Amino acid sequence: MNPTDDEDEPSEVTVFVGCAHRINSDGEHCSAGSLWYGPNDNNLKIRVPIELSTRNAGEPAAILFAIQNLPRQISINFRLKSKRTIKALTTALSHYKDRDWAENEDSHLLRVIAAALRGRGTKCTFKEADTSESDQMREALELAKLGFNESTPTNLQVEIPLGYDMKGVKLKGGTQRTFYNTIRARKPIPQRLKTTIMLDITRHAAWDLSGTTPTDSQIWFSIRHADITRTTRDFLWRCLHQAYKIGEHWKDIPNYEHFAKCHHCQVDETMEHILLECDAPGQEVLWNLAQELWEMKGYAWPELSYGHVFACGLVDIRDEKGKRDEGAIRLFRILISETAHLIWKFRCTRVIERGNDPNRYFSEVELHNKWLHCINSRLRMDALLTDVKKYGSRALKIDKVQNTWSGVLMDNQNLPDTWVRQSGFLVGIPPLRPPGRN
Ligand SMILES: [Zn+2]
Repeated sequence: MNPTDDEDEPSEVTVFVGCAHRINSDGEHCSAGSLWYGPNDNNLKIRVPIELSTRNAGEPAAILFAIQNLPRQISINFRLKSKRTIKALTTALSHYKDRDWAENEDSHLLRVIAAALRGRGTKCTFKEADTSESDQMREALELAKLGFNESTPTNLQVEIPLGYDMKGVKLKGGTQRTFYNTIRARKPIPQRLKTTIMLDITRHAAWDLSGTTPTDSQIWFSIRHADITRTTRDFLWRCLHQAYKIGEHWKDIPNYEHFAKCHHCQVDETMEHILLECDAPGQEVLWNLAQELWEMKGYAWPELSYGHVFACGLVDIRDEKGKRDEGAIRLFRILISETAHLIWKFRCTRVIERGNDPNRYFSEVELHNKWLHCINSRLRMDALLTDVKKYGSRALKIDKVQNTWSGVLMDNQNLPDTWVRQSGFLVGIPPLRPPGRN
């Protein structure tokens, strides 16, 4: 029997929603949540995907999971700790809707919940847990903390069923920039269209790098490639969704309008500006290093456009015999994705942690050495992951690692063939010494 047809199914359920938050070693928000129905019940812990994590995302994520997974004929009474979430989902709902949700950092989750509630039919209520319910609330909060230990993020359906047809916009003629600016000039841009624009920019760049035009799912798959580290995959994913709060996000928010501009260059701040154009010390030094290492591999460095960053996983590189150079392809993917992510991290440190203070900008030596450290760490990780004893069938093939890094290592000529098994190997760019030291 279909469980949703079961006559014994309760018509109403009360669930306590817990949430927890912490900052990970990359300085990113991590959220977890829980749904606590009662002792001995099928209580659930939720690990929120990093791209949706904020200080408070645990609660809306858990609510969304319940709305999407409990049988539709059941009314749900949510008990929460945060007045903020209750307000966002009840009295403030139309306020946020009118402002395209720009004022709430969990806007995407709240939008999906609002859509899911409309589709559900049965009643859902949201109330603060009262004092007689403090034990249950405590259980829910304790359970939420365990959500961080879940090995994979909870699968939340965060696509909004549109109900209207949003046709893709194709790049035809004109440069990427004019296209992008024209689109950006229309406000407000629905989230889905923003993603469509980014996918088209990426498709255009992929044509440049490989001579083929990938489908949307090929693009999504390519940025989830195992060669790209997990935090960098999340970074690319969020960029493709234009999910970072930069530039135009701040334009209509009173008292925050100045956040819309790059403080150093005094132009509208976009991710493209940050990654490829900004004059503050950062992007130029890092891309020059990536180019220097890449050229050791014996290939020309492409003139980078914004789309190339997201199309890096789709590149096709052929050796002089016309054979696909898998090692070079893998190195390109690593260099572009890691360098772009590092530029973003440096920008965040400069703007957020260091308050745009020019006296605290990164020096060229720091930038050089931090980039080198990042790439050398990737190289070391690659070598460690070839350990079959430790990683079994998940171990990387030694050939693959050697093909990736051959030609770009320090003292490349004199390295033994078995360098992967040894220690002390580094990429072929030496660190810089801080001024004043010998
Ligand atoms: Zn700038």
